[in-house]
Amino acid sequence: MIQARKDVPFSNTTPYRFCPADGTPLGDPRPSGGVTCPECGRSWYRNSAPAVGVAIVRSGKALVTVRAREPEKGRVDVPGGFVEVGEHPARGLEREVREELGIEVEVEETPVLLATHTYGPDGNWVLAISFLARIVEGEPSPADDVAGIRWVSAEDIDDLDFAWEHDRRLIMAALED
Ligand SMILES: [Zn+2]
Repeated sequence: MIQARKDVPFSNTTPYRFCPADGTPLGDPRPSGGVTCPECGRSWYRNSAPAVGVAIVRSGKALVTVRAREPEKGRVDVPGGFVEVGEHPARGLEREVREELGIEVEVEETPVLLATHTYGPDGNWVLAISFLARIVEGEPSPADDVAGIRWVSAEDIDDLDFAWEHDRRLIMAALED
């Protein structure tokens, strides 16, 4: 359990105060949000965090997950998570699905939905990239940060308590196909 020691506001749009390369104190950012290090000349930008999510459809129903952890604990989302540094989004999604559901999926490489949303109490901006995938091995069972799974049909979608509305749009679109 990570506990904040001090209430220091910090999000992924807060400018860097020190150069990540050499530790030189940085001045005020330009209107674009970038700031240039006077020592090494590198420009630094803060940015949205990339996250991936997936619609898995089988026999006319789509798989949704119940969140086991904060933020948005107990609400509905889809399998997925944050892309790791240097990771291809589709490979990151396959890794997340393996961790959360214990299954292997084949992800269609072309994203079907892009969205932005905020995540957590600091209001971090996230760039959400959503894909379609099919199960190639295993039967999904909840693990890691997933408390439960549900297979839902089109008529269930309106009643689901989605943590982020773009996941509702993703599931709706996937079930229309
Ligand atoms: Zn520098």
